[in-house]
Amino acid sequence: MHDTEVEILTARDVPLGGPRAMTVRRTLPQRSRTLIGAWCFADHYGPDEVAESGGMDVAPHPHTGLQTVSWLFSGEIEHRDSLGSHAIVRPGELNLMTGGHGISHTEVSTPGTTVLHGVQLWVALPEEHRHTERDFRHHAPEPVRLHGAELRVFLGTLAGDTSPVPTFTPLLGAELLLDAGATLTLTVDAAFEHGLLVDEGTVLVDGARVRPAELGYVGTGHETLTLTNESDRRARAVLLGGTPFDERIVMWWNFIGRSHQDIVEARDAWEQASERFGHVDGYPGDRLPAPILPNAALTPRGNPPRG
Ligand code: MN
Repeated sequence: MHDTEVEILTARDVPLGGPRAMTVRRTLPQRSRTLIGAWCFADHYGPDEVAESGGMDVAPHPHTGLQTVSWLFSGEIEHRDSLGSHAIVRPGELNLMTGGHGISHTEVSTPGTTVLHGVQLWVALPEEHRHTERDFRHHAPEPVRLHGAELRVFLGTLAGDTSPVPTFTPLLGAELLLDAGATLTLTVDAAFEHGLLVDEGTVLVDGARVRPAELGYVGTGHETLTLTNESDRRARAVLLGGTPFDERIVMWWNFIGRSHQDIVEARDAWEQASERFGHVDGYPGDRLPAPILPNAALTPRGNPPRG
């Protein structure tokens, strides 16, 4: 049994904040879907002319209960975190930061960046690992070349390539390039649900049309995914997958917890400059203050029941 329907999730525009801030296209979370596997946040941005937008400049801010994935198509971002990591995020290279119990970091587009274009993704950590230690991993996957397509597998396994970067739940993350008119049938894990986030071109996913900035969701029970690039130029997309994440989570600002109280504690720790989140060296500015919590208690959310 599987759902044959492909669900099309459309993006909403979200300004990242600040006077000359970039606007991103957010497809996760949304009302109808909180997670795909453990993927719980998907922001897609650009191509953004940095001369006009000012690029990316995110001051020190905290995370808990999640991992962040920065994946670029163009431009470069300088990453610093309270683990002491200092990395340049480049196109086609995975930079995975594990927040665990607490981390803080900064993200600034480099002076040489003229066009910024990519995705920012979050992975929810399962209950037993959500207070794990801070971590940072880098991996530059070798492109997998297939007939009419090129893949970069940054997490999990696809088309015979496996990322060496471990995950806390079974996950897949890959960039796909499809030549104009090409059709690609991928063997996938039937225990996974998948989402195809299209960047450029129009891609049919098992016959359903997914346009740029949309995310096409396919439930579990599929042993293959068939993708066709309908456009007359190359298409680019990011394929996300994982086993359904059955825990209910509370997401607020940069935190993931299980309860309103978890969020209150994380927020208080950040506001008190607690060692929980550590300190980022090398950023020439102030840390981001946490927003005010809403009056109503935050309630845990999960996906709609699977049928
Ligand atoms: Mn962040």
